[in-house]
Amino acid sequence: MDLFEYQARELFAKHQVPVLPAVVVTEPEQALEAAASLPQGLLVVKAQVKTGGRGKAGGVKLAHSPQEALEHTRAIHGMDIKGHKVHRVMIAAAADIAEEYYFSLLLDRSNRQYLAMCSREGGMEIETLAAQRPEALAKLGIDPLEGFTEQKAAELLAAAGFSGEEAEAIVPVLLRLGEVFEAEDATLVEVNPLVKTPSGEIIALDGKVTLDDNAAFRHPEHAELVVKEDADPLELRAKEAGLNYVRLEGEVGIIGNGAGLVMSTLDVVAYAGQEHGVRPANFLDIGGGASAEVMAAGLEIILGDPQVRSVFVNVFGGITACDAVAQGIVRALELLGEAATKPLVVRLDGNNVEAGRAILAQANHPLVSVVETMDGAAALAAAKAK
Ligand code: GDP
Ligand code: MN
Repeated sequence: MDLFEYQARELFAKHQVPVLPAVVVTEPEQALEAAASLPQGLLVVKAQVKTGGRGKAGGVKLAHSPQEALEHTRAIHGMDIKGHKVHRVMIAAAADIAEEYYFSLLLDRSNRQYLAMCSREGGMEIETLAAQRPEALAKLGIDPLEGFTEQKAAELLAAAGFSGEEAEAIVPVLLRLGEVFEAEDATLVEVNPLVKTPSGEIIALDGKVTLDDNAAFRHPEHAELVVKEDADPLELRAKEAGLNYVRLEGEVGIIGNGAGLVMSTLDVVAYAGQEHGVRPANFLDIGGGASAEVMAAGLEIILGDPQVRSVFVNVFGGITACDAVAQGIVRALELLGEAATKPLVVRLDGNNVEAGRAILAQANHPLVSVVETMDGAAALAAAKAK
């Protein structure tokens, strides 16, 4: 799960990373009071969207008074930044900036370690820095069993060109950011910019944190960080229906029973789709004992995705036999009625397959085609999505 900047800053504060006080508003009308509650002085108004480059897009503005903060909030609220609509705006005490640095610590899966990165040239986007001035970006692999130690922090800063004296002030902040990474089970902690003020203080002015969902069971408190209006509406509905659904970017909707089968269905559809320029639209596992209601709920969610142009239902009958699944599909189409509008390609195999196919043949639904093999069904679903 990616966090908003204001949530990242709250986690930073919890671990004693220096941040400046901030308030988040969901309505521009709240801005005046929010701004007035902050220490007097320069303020900064920032769009809360889970994408970088807000500054360039006009989503970060300095304000010299609560009144000006209100005006900026009005302008920023509702803005669209790279396809992300601004529902929340953060008003924070602004820092006086002498220098802007970059720091990140992340999980480097391919090398089975952590990667720490640092640069004296913060502020600009890291992709740009890495492409244009790779020599200005220091990188250091970190053994996860050893962790991000004081020695590693010092080594990283030296590689980035900081003097020993400068490093003395920065190391403690990096160590606390390392603590955020480890204690909160993050896969990314990025601060850009990490700033030095004219008086030499080191402050995290921005924060990007990704938490490891696989560790969520260790952090019940992280559940509060889920912001509903921000989630994909289809994923939210699937979650409420207890379905294991992930929205992707393609055109072929996919339903299967069992995560392994659905994963391989994605692969087969991706392969078959190459010829037609189409891709899988989602992952949806309806689980073992798929009832008609579950099948209907799954179909409804997939058909609710405007990108979907065909649906591949791939079921292997096990404990729930194919005839029960076939009845489920027929019943689901009845339940959906007019809402079922896109062609369905069904592949059934396993326990009671003949009975299952017979049920579908008898129902003879105009939208349903039954194909015996997984490859054949994937090819037909891809062709129909073209
Ligand atoms: P991003 O563009 O989405 O990464 O948003 P940032 O939070 O990094 O802000 C972009 C830029 O706005 C920073 O690089 C700073 O130059 C500037 N900025 C942000 N906060 C402050 C602040 O408190 N004081 C000052 N003077 N500038 C700020
Ligand atoms: Mn930034």
